[in-house]
Amino acid sequence: MDAAARSERYHVVCRECQLERLCDTPDEADGIGREHIDETGHRVAVERVE
Ligand SMILES: [Zn+2]
Repeated sequence: MDAAARSERYHVVCRECQLERLCDTPDEADGIGREHIDETGHRVAVERVE
């Protein structure tokens, strides 16, 4: 499987500060979101980007 052919990305956005990240996998996005929640208690959303 060619990773470069994948068009989906996962956009991690914090509702309460400027945090914004673009990830290749849902696991990575989830990890970043959880880490931020643990550190700050903010609410983080993960959106799939086509
Ligand atoms: Zn935040």
